[in-house]
Amino acid sequence: MNLDQEIKQHFRCAKCGNTRATVKRFAATGTGLSKLFDIQHNVFIAVSCGQCGFTELYNPEVLEGKKNLGNILDLIFGG
Ligand SMILES: [Zn+2]
Repeated sequence: MNLDQEIKQHFRCAKCGNTRATVKRFAATGTGLSKLFDIQHNVFIAVSCGQCGFTELYNPEVLEGKKNLGNILDLIFGG
């Protein structure tokens, strides 16, 4: 299972408690800094609540490859 799917499975909205999430990856381009870094290091994951639209950003570089990813996601979304 990839990170996006893991996030969807563990998601629980901090605002309304809804468990249906939309996960999108996007590159933070357009700043002067983006030219200095490899584009892969400017990719973020936006997790949006399917009910109220509350959105949080995560850095996939930090989360990908974590052995205890499930535990971390439980922590983020309150289990
Ligand atoms: Zn919500």
